[in-house]
Amino acid sequence: MNHSRNEQLMARKAAATPRGVGVMGAFFAERAQGAELWDVEGRRYIDFAGGIAVMNVGHGHPKVLAAIQAQLERFSHTCYQVVPYEGYVSLAEKLNRLTPGTHAKKTAFFSTGAEAVENAVKIARAHTRRSGVIAFGGAFHGRSLFAVSLTGKVQPYKAGFGPFPPEIYHAPFPCHGASLEDTRKAVHHLFKADIEPGRVAAIVFEPVQGEGGFNVIRPEAVAWLRELCDEHGIVLIADEVQTGFGRTGRMFAMEHYGVAPDLMTIAKSLAAGLPLSAVTGRAEIMDAPAAGGLGGTYAGNPLAVAAAHAVIDVMADERLPERGARLGERLRAELDAARAEVPQIADVRGLGGMVAVELRRPDGAPDAEFTRCVQAQALQRGLILLTCGVDANVVRFLFPLTVPEAVFDEALAILRDALRAA
Ligand code: PMP
Repeated sequence: MNHSRNEQLMARKAAATPRGVGVMGAFFAERAQGAELWDVEGRRYIDFAGGIAVMNVGHGHPKVLAAIQAQLERFSHTCYQVVPYEGYVSLAEKLNRLTPGTHAKKTAFFSTGAEAVENAVKIARAHTRRSGVIAFGGAFHGRSLFAVSLTGKVQPYKAGFGPFPPEIYHAPFPCHGASLEDTRKAVHHLFKADIEPGRVAAIVFEPVQGEGGFNVIRPEAVAWLRELCDEHGIVLIADEVQTGFGRTGRMFAMEHYGVAPDLMTIAKSLAAGLPLSAVTGRAEIMDAPAAGGLGGTYAGNPLAVAAAHAVIDVMADERLPERGARLGERLRAELDAARAEVPQIADVRGLGGMVAVELRRPDGAPDAEFTRCVQAQALQRGLILLTCGVDANVVRFLFPLTVPEAVFDEALAILRDALRAA
């Protein structure tokens, strides 16, 4: 039997790596440029996944490549805690300036989103000397053991991995699926039944839940969370790992709400594919852990830091948040127009360039099957899409904000066909 190169690689993958590391498609990457990707057999794809919200500036942006190359020739690693370098400090200064709120801020760097979330909680605990953490149903905060404990979705993230650390509580997320009143009642119930507010260190939330289904938080809920945290001395942590860096039409989603969190976690598109994450927040809270309490061998890696400096410049020079919002509007219009022919479309939602479509059966039940089908039909036609949602019935769009108009048009045409063919 003659197997294709992709088939051979899939067979080797199955034999050499655990099934727990699942993959979306049955093809392997060869190279990528801008919003396009080619597999090892030369097949071209339009990449509307962006490595899960990482490639907001697109693959191989020349300014990012140049910054990484220049840094690579100087040094690729010293471990910041052993021999520090200026790029780390100047990137911290930039993030302190760029993130919402005019108060004094400090930033620490890590490698992954999960690590940023874990460290944000450590910092909040050190500052408050309390232990409890409240997160939300449908949330995704990462796969490391504490981050996955905060994650509000059992399958496939938590099943089989318990017991989880104590004093983590989940409330319903105040978005289209729950009113602020539902959330408020649930939190007050927690305060009565499980933990007094004076023992809660932090409340962690995503302004738009990513993996959970692109669920946009109700604006009045953000104001309420801020008040609740202020009343009880709780640290408010906004997880902007997926929403940050231009995805929602602003540099950070929290800018839409006019509310500054105490701490913010950032990762993904921060460094255009090099592993870098950050916790930025109130200087006095960030300073709570003692020297040596924060860090990591690769945390704030110089190549990733150099890439992040370039990403910030590109975002501003090319006005990418605004461009993403404009493209997001076109995508929403396309999806809204498809409603007439595709009755499964139950909701089109998002913020700026963070757009998703929710699919349901005629009886209103989530239609995961149809969702998978749309994804497969798009993939067959050369468009990479991701699904999400607690019920796996949402298609999300994470196009590079630099995608050329012609490629965007091509992707919309494929999407149109895929929705109809499914
Ligand atoms: N928080 C959010 C909101 C995320 O979307 C993700 C990743 N999808 C994470 C945390 C975890 O990031 P990482 O996979 O880099 O650990």
